[in-house]
Amino acid sequence: MSARHCAELEARLLRYVQIDTTSDVTASTTPSTAAQLEFQKLLAAELTTLGATEVHLDAHGFLYASLPPTISHTAPRLALLAHVDTVAGVGDGPIKPRVHRNYDGAPILFPDDPLLLLLPEIHPALRTRLGHDIITASGGTLLGADGKAGVAILMTLAHHLLTHPDLPHGELRLCFTPDEEIGTGIHHIDLARLAADVAYTLDGGEVGEIAYETFSGDRATVTIAGVTERAGRGKERLVNALTLAERIVALLPNVLQQPEGGAVCEGYIHLDRVEGAAGVCTLHFSLRDFEDDRLAQYGRTLAAICAAVQQSEPRARITCTITPEVRNMRHRLQQDMRPVAYAIDAIRSLGIAPLSPPVCGITDGAQLTALGVPTPNLFTGMQAIHSPLEWISVQDMALAVAVLIELVQRWAAAAPLASPCQPC
Ligand SMILES: [Zn+2]
Repeated sequence: MSARHCAELEARLLRYVQIDTTSDVTASTTPSTAAQLEFQKLLAAELTTLGATEVHLDAHGFLYASLPPTISHTAPRLALLAHVDTVAGVGDGPIKPRVHRNYDGAPILFPDDPLLLLLPEIHPALRTRLGHDIITASGGTLLGADGKAGVAILMTLAHHLLTHPDLPHGELRLCFTPDEEIGTGIHHIDLARLAADVAYTLDGGEVGEIAYETFSGDRATVTIAGVTERAGRGKERLVNALTLAERIVALLPNVLQQPEGGAVCEGYIHLDRVEGAAGVCTLHFSLRDFEDDRLAQYGRTLAAICAAVQQSEPRARITCTITPEVRNMRHRLQQDMRPVAYAIDAIRSLGIAPLSPPVCGITDGAQLTALGVPTPNLFTGMQAIHSPLEWISVQDMALAVAVLIELVQRWAAAAPLASPCQPC
């Protein structure tokens, strides 16, 4: 790991996190906030200065760039992605990053919130970072290492590769994406412009992480049409759709209802949203599980509950529609495990133990994989994300750069990938 990478990573992260790029779940545009577009313009200018080619920022706020190949033969086309937005809802005001140089193992304090403490006893990963340079926020906000660490890592990698043409790699595509935190950005990616056979997102946590197991997901829409009568006229004839909705939710198996309640990563049926009134209402559910057969069972359970409530109230009209969303990334990767195997090999070559924790969610990479571009998720080193305690070690970020340098060289010598599956 070079000290030069550490200095550059630190400088980039400190600069990037101070630029607000919070995404906004209530917006109907992509990007959801103009600030993300402004940040992308800055990255575009920096990439051009570094010598990247085909730098292109599109109307949806996706920034694409190329690092020209340093080999003469054809190799699989590799893309590396990071998201530029940060999650809303953790404090207000500007992010004021702080560097805890040569960390000594003591509790870390936050000047803007005296009650906040980052304790090695509670965050044991800190104990193994003695001597590292740790970056945190100042107490009032999150740090924004999720996803600015990924951005800083890719920019530093680009700088390194563009100044080391002796390192063999095929054409590398970089892509900086908006609105990952609100789940809407990736739908607007331009796959033709991405032009990749395989990709990695830089959005993982602990050093050594290479994640390729994600939830399979379906959407369920339950529409209930009741019978409305003007108040005071037909108490007998009133069939309140909201009452029936309540009954459906109450009949859901308890164990499947509370994804936020359990510490373990298990499947669920989650009521996301209710729309409507006593006459007609619609319930929107997310169904999630690692295993497709269990996911299908959740759909059947919900449909059976709707049918039972329908039977108990024939005057209402209840429909239940299940729409497939995305499937566990592992299913596609099993056809050709090299995207995982090369990453594990690159991680091991640096003396790091690889970790593959299942991701209890649907990542941008899972959606790209479903579109035919296998995209596992690699570590950035970020810790305690989405909280004011968020922290990252500069040296851990440098390990991510070192892994990527190893990884691009492995792909330079790789045979073509198996042709992509049909969109899953
Ligand atoms: Zn992220």
